[in-house]
Amino acid sequence: MHTQSEIGYNSKVEGDVIVTRLDAALNWFRKNSLWPMPMGLACCAIELMASGASRFDIARFGAEVMRFSPRQSDVMIVAGTVTYKMAMAVKRIYDQMAEPKWVIAMGACASTGGMYRSYAVLQGVDRIVPVNVYVAGCPPRPEALLDALMRLQGQVAKEPVLSTLKKVA
Ligand code: SF4
Repeated sequence: MHTQSEIGYNSKVEGDVIVTRLDAALNWFRKNSLWPMPMGLACCAIELMASGASRFDIARFGAEVMRFSPRQSDVMIVAGTVTYKMAMAVKRIYDQMAEPKWVIAMGACASTGGMYRSYAVLQGVDRIVPVNVYVAGCPPRPEALLDALMRLQGQVAKEPVLSTLKKVA
């Protein structure tokens, strides 16, 4: 008859050991440590700032570490009107962010150009960067941004990680 140690099972550590898939573990780390790159371009940025304050407390989702460096961020929150003058700067900062990276288009302006159907305004930031979640509203409330963040967490949780890793020679 086999003892417990022979079959690799020890009831004393039961409850201290979690068995999971590596994909799921990596995604769990990622989705709970999304560090925003705040791309505040107009009035929506005020709501973005509010979401970081105590009343709404974006820290509950592990996303309070707002970085102003693309190299330390993994989710760009485009909050405001994207003019053509700023568009290339937004694209450049997005390109400088390391993979994996995601984008939230916050508000009507970032999503579609909003009420600015004008020669000076990009009609949606998805014309220059891929957007994962769009937030409706002018301006959207901080709760709407938090909802978008939770939706993004849901997307991140389902991403294949291991199958997309590139082999380094
Ligand atoms: S959606 Fe409304 S609140 Fe947001 S940047 Fe545009 S005009 Fe301002």
